[in-house]
Amino acid sequence: MIQEPISTEETWLQGIPVSPGIALGKIKIQISGSKEPVAYEISPEEVDAELVRFHQALQTTADQIRTLRERMIQISGEKDASIFDAHILLLQDKVILQQVQTELLKRLQNVEHIFYVVMQNYMEVLRRVDDPYLRAKTADMEDVMQRVINNLRSTEPLEDEEEAEEAQVLVAYDLTPSDTAAMDASLIHGFATEIGSSVSHTAILARSMGIPAVVGLDQALLRVESHAPAILDGYKGVLILKPTQETVEYYNRLQVEKEKAYKALEALRDLPTITRDGRNIRLSVNVEFPHEYSGIKEVGAEGVGLFRTEFFLLGNPAGMPDEEEQTRYYKKLAEGCAPHGVIFRTLDSGGDKLPCERLCTPEPNPFLGWRGIRVSLSRPELFKQQLRAILRACADTPGCGIMFPMISGYTEVVTAKHILQECREELEKKNVPYARDLKVGIMIEVPSAAIMTDVLAREVDFFSVGTNDLTQYTIAVDRVNNRVANMFRPTHPAVVRIIGMTITAGERENVPTAICGEMAGDITLLPLLIGLGATSMSVGVHLVPIIRYAIRNLDYGQCRDMAQKALQAPNSRTIVDLSTALARKSYPALFE
Ligand code: PEP
Ligand code: MG
Repeated sequence: MIQEPISTEETWLQGIPVSPGIALGKIKIQISGSKEPVAYEISPEEVDAELVRFHQALQTTADQIRTLRERMIQISGEKDASIFDAHILLLQDKVILQQVQTELLKRLQNVEHIFYVVMQNYMEVLRRVDDPYLRAKTADMEDVMQRVINNLRSTEPLEDEEEAEEAQVLVAYDLTPSDTAAMDASLIHGFATEIGSSVSHTAILARSMGIPAVVGLDQALLRVESHAPAILDGYKGVLILKPTQETVEYYNRLQVEKEKAYKALEALRDLPTITRDGRNIRLSVNVEFPHEYSGIKEVGAEGVGLFRTEFFLLGNPAGMPDEEEQTRYYKKLAEGCAPHGVIFRTLDSGGDKLPCERLCTPEPNPFLGWRGIRVSLSRPELFKQQLRAILRACADTPGCGIMFPMISGYTEVVTAKHILQECREELEKKNVPYARDLKVGIMIEVPSAAIMTDVLAREVDFFSVGTNDLTQYTIAVDRVNNRVANMFRPTHPAVVRIIGMTITAGERENVPTAICGEMAGDITLLPLLIGLGATSMSVGVHLVPIIRYAIRNLDYGQCRDMAQKALQAPNSRTIVDLSTALARKSYPALFE
């Protein structure tokens, strides 16, 4: 392939905006994911040089891991840092090193490719074993392999993470949710990826962490230059390479203005989220990490409407936290949000979330596989640990709730409730205090559950619509595949009707419906959701001030009339136009 020369002039690359904000910094390229390194032939005389390169990369990797280990000890102690000892042992594994040498001599190909092939063979064997502990080791192997390959790829060793202090704009082919979760926001001021979508968990995490992000920047890696200055505009979805002084000044001014506007909205934090004609809407937040806790009170949210517990349960390299650790963790959040409650969603693993190796082997269709409540029901001991921890954690904080994800029908709901009841009885027997008023709800994100909401409403205290998965499963459009991203429309008439049906079925049984998918944070679609009858919105922390302002400027009566028309509309375009027109009329300032 002939690569275009990298331009010396200001260049604008257009992608999809997924996390608002502006980042100015130097480009940092991240080659990640297990993309197979390009293979090329070498001569027998080059073998020794390849081996030297390989051993240097192993050494650099070991040094980086030791630095990470030290940092982890400071943050959370020896126990969590032990994972890095295992990584260093892997780098010294004689069998792997010997095999790389043998294959190098035999195949006469570059060493990163040989190393990749050798590691893939080992991982494949591990993925097939029954023992979940051994299977989980593939994630470690993948991690170490990637570091070594990155170090082999760069002409200079990877920057020492401690030393790189200037603001960076990260550019990658793709980022996993765990790459994003591990990002140091004080260093990485924004990121751009070649692929991705706005409802992937990587994008959701970027918004939670307040990191501006743009995805879908086709061939960005071919056009960027490491360390070159850049601006990432997370509002418009643009990555500007080598900006002129004029552009830099414009963005500096814009950044100040945006911050000022945000602060003005924050000043409304103590005002109720009520429409102009008096309809109360509960405005709560979606949370993934503890560092978001402080923001919940700062923005004046009414507690947490969706706590995605999987990031805590699966994100810890040292293993799944036990019941005691979970209780402490959940309690801290519940107490921090009092007097408002927290809705704890039980483990929702699978799909594009964190690597599931700890629980299962990789699946051919992860979004249609062993996800959400399916995992919990087939691992009752794991499930009960989490249920007891939530019950105990909320003993002194009224108003909390528990929510089951990926419900597809009645039997799952009654089985999950039955197990919850067993947990209550176990705690009762042991005289352990627990929340007696814990509300029980379900996520409506699978069409089969939505169709059954009249029946399910008799079993639960609330519904929460996960519009990300509901859209994915209703229209059969993968939420993380950017090839079909233009078809991913939460305003598809079928999705809108399903949301309407759910709310109406709930109202008949006095079961309120919340919206917690990304649709709830879209100011153009807010009139539609309010008009359909949703009484609660759960959004990313940073969106709370904007959504509060928008709700306070809406008229429920007008929203309801508009939603009735939307329910009759034949296509998504008409629905978007109807809702956007009312949004623009109600809060024009948010569209300036
Ligand atoms: C959803 O599917 O809309 C949802 C809120 O859950 P998650 O994004 O975690 O799958
Ligand atoms: Mg979901």
